[in-house]
Amino acid sequence: MAKKAVLVINCGSSSLKFSLIKPNSGELLVSGIAERLLSADAFIKINFQGDKHIHPLTAPHNHQSALEFLVKFLYDNALVAELGAVGHRVVHGGEEYSQPTLIDNQVKATISRLAKLAPLHNPVNLIGVEAAEHAFKDLPQVAVFDTAFHQTMPSKAFITGLPYKLYEQQGIRSYGFHGTSHYFVSKQAAKLLKKPYSESSFICAHLGNGCSIAAINNGKSVDTSMGLTPLSGVIMGTRCGDIDPGIILHLIEQLNYSPAQVSTMLNKESGLLGISELSNDCRTIEDAILNDENLRANLTMDIFCYRIAKSIASFMASLSHFDGLIFTGGIGENSDLVRTRVVNSLKLLNIELDPQKNITTRFGKSGLISTATSQNCFVIQTNEELVIAEQTAELIGREQ
Ligand code: ADP
Repeated sequence: MAKKAVLVINCGSSSLKFSLIKPNSGELLVSGIAERLLSADAFIKINFQGDKHIHPLTAPHNHQSALEFLVKFLYDNALVAELGAVGHRVVHGGEEYSQPTLIDNQVKATISRLAKLAPLHNPVNLIGVEAAEHAFKDLPQVAVFDTAFHQTMPSKAFITGLPYKLYEQQGIRSYGFHGTSHYFVSKQAAKLLKKPYSESSFICAHLGNGCSIAAINNGKSVDTSMGLTPLSGVIMGTRCGDIDPGIILHLIEQLNYSPAQVSTMLNKESGLLGISELSNDCRTIEDAILNDENLRANLTMDIFCYRIAKSIASFMASLSHFDGLIFTGGIGENSDLVRTRVVNSLKLLNIELDPQKNITTRFGKSGLISTATSQNCFVIQTNEELVIAEQTAELIGREQ
């Protein structure tokens, strides 16, 4: 298995992202995405040897069609022999899974049962698993859970202020997400500091379409801003983050919103999009600030960055010592404006950016962006696919 590649699959409701990775070298052999699945204009984009191949998918235009196309592509390019296992990103592993897990019928049943905690994610993750089982009948399939890294959180961090029996009987607690990303970038930051990971403590801001902050103490997640669902914590592209729960009651009882309308508002119509009334995309908000002096866009960015800074400051309560702040995710890795505004609110924590390093550390670059006298602040490009490939290969290696 050590020399074999892992096919990493990340299934969304209408998309399937894939990467064929050699886990021991990190070499990316093939990557791509199938989009608009379940509609007649579904297509697949495959990046291979510097070329982009784009093809329409045939009926039934689903995840299975995408994987069948990919299998044929791998056969046609003599890549199937390279393949040793399939690693799946699975969003919710509940309290059951704190480690990568070889998928069998019982594991599938548990992922399905946990769908009540992640109705938007676990069912489509299972569709991906079943499509891959069908396409690659002889290969081991491994689940790597987004929640797994956060299973080290102490109970004081994950138990909510609701009656305890809701935790005991219904599993209502904080689980946290983006675990694979928080793990990868914090490990990379420890490497840059030449410190053992088990002695390294960071606060990590994963800022993409979804955003979460995590406190990592001596190499273990001890708290994070997302909760039972990926809706809580800081403001995101279209999600509201933390709000007074009384607002939900007010919407339902006083303003006659249905639960479905509230859900749509909190998940899809809030955040950067809802405040700016412009876009959920950080680049569009930035352009409106810089090119049009759009005041609402500026306010949106201020709210977004201030909430992130407050969350970062609050997680200082979770650490025994502090080795640095890490920015990652599409926004964290690329937006010098967001990083500047966040860190401007963190001067009392002695975090200060080197303006030049902040501007140049973007578009695929990683490194330290703080001044010599500041606490460390890093930009680290995340690579969840590599972690999934490595953990899959390690597990399969152990099982053989
Ligand atoms: P996902 O959570 O879907 O994986 P990403 O991590 O790719 O999302 O992040 C998407 C976000 O990153 C979008 O809001 C996008 O605007 C933002 N982003 C990407 N590139 C830039 C950039 N150069 N400047 C500012 N924001 C960026």
